Amino acid sequence: MSDEKKTKFDVIIIGAGPAGYTAGIYSSRARHDTLILSGILPGGQLVNTTDVENYPGFENGIMGPDLMINFRKQTERMGTTIIDDEVVKVDFSNRPFKVATASQEYEAKAIIICTGANPRKLGLEGETTYGGKGVSYCATCDGPFFRNQELVVAGGGDSAVEEATFLTKFASTVHLVHRRDELRASKIMQERAFADKKIKFHWNKTIEEIIGNGKVQKVVLKDTKTDEKTSLDVGGVFVAIGHEPNTKLFVDKIELDDQGYIVVKENTKTNIEGVFAAGDVHDHRYRQAITAAGMGCMAAIDVDKYLAEN
Ligand code: NAP
Repeated sequence: MSDEKKTKFDVIIIGAGPAGYTAGIYSSRARHDTLILSGILPGGQLVNTTDVENYPGFENGIMGPDLMINFRKQTERMGTTIIDDEVVKVDFSNRPFKVATASQEYEAKAIIICTGANPRKLGLEGETTYGGKGVSYCATCDGPFFRNQELVVAGGGDSAVEEATFLTKFASTVHLVHRRDELRASKIMQERAFADKKIKFHWNKTIEEIIGNGKVQKVVLKDTKTDEKTSLDVGGVFVAIGHEPNTKLFVDKIELDDQGYIVVKENTKTNIEGVFAAGDVHDHRYRQAITAAGMGCMAAIDVDKYLAEN
């Protein structure tokens, strides 16, 4: 029987970023018949990244898409079946669990959800044009590429303030642009940012346009009260206006928190026995490829134990 026709597996992993592929490697090596349904754009957020310098094991760094191709090849070599199709429906109410794409229904004894999260975008044309050429959604990942440059951070929550503070290690000046006149971030983080002479606050402003020539050179700001436009010469734009977990599929099927992230009870267990979650789909704190991969490993070990006991 070809893999395309086979529909019953021990484990189905939904999503193919660092968490999903790592879960596949560990699950297949534990001799569980494992299927990854990758979605239509496999690889997760790293596919939209250029240099990755903080994933251990690559002395000179690696390009994000290349890293994810390596993840995939390694997972396939371990025997995981990977199908590049999007899951449109899940049924976790009975066992075996059912997971359906538009054309096929699959069954498994255990599920690992690794559908990730996406950074919220400003919705500007320049975000697409200069993605990886000055526009970033992760200061931890990309900050070190912007030494001694002026940078702008958009947002007023904990992420924006944390990223702005982190970027002062590298930048000459960090401009924090917020659409209101007060921050949403926790007081302690606000105080730290206000005390930092490298951070300049631009209140009641939004980024209207990102301008460059091959890479980012300038942003146009608009005053939300007066509509007045000003500009800032910057080498990088860090967008930190929140993330959206990819959990629409699981609404009313599994417990989600008030921001839509999957709630994990113990290690990687969700509220449904036999359904596990790993990576950014439940983690809004670390959001790193290495932590997602680590959680994928944890979920596969938890599944192995669950299958042995059931
Ligand atoms: P968040 O709390 O939802 O804040 C998003 C910020 O972006 C808000 O200030 C919001 O403005 C602004 N914003 C949203 N959409 C915008 C748009 N289209 N244009 C311009 N600005 C926009 O998101 P977050 O900062 O990523 O934090 C998410 C969660 O993680 C929070 O619970 C946070 O406490 C937590 N977190 C904690 C830490 C930490 O403790 N170290 C670090 C990071 C995140 P308004 O304020 O006007 O709505």
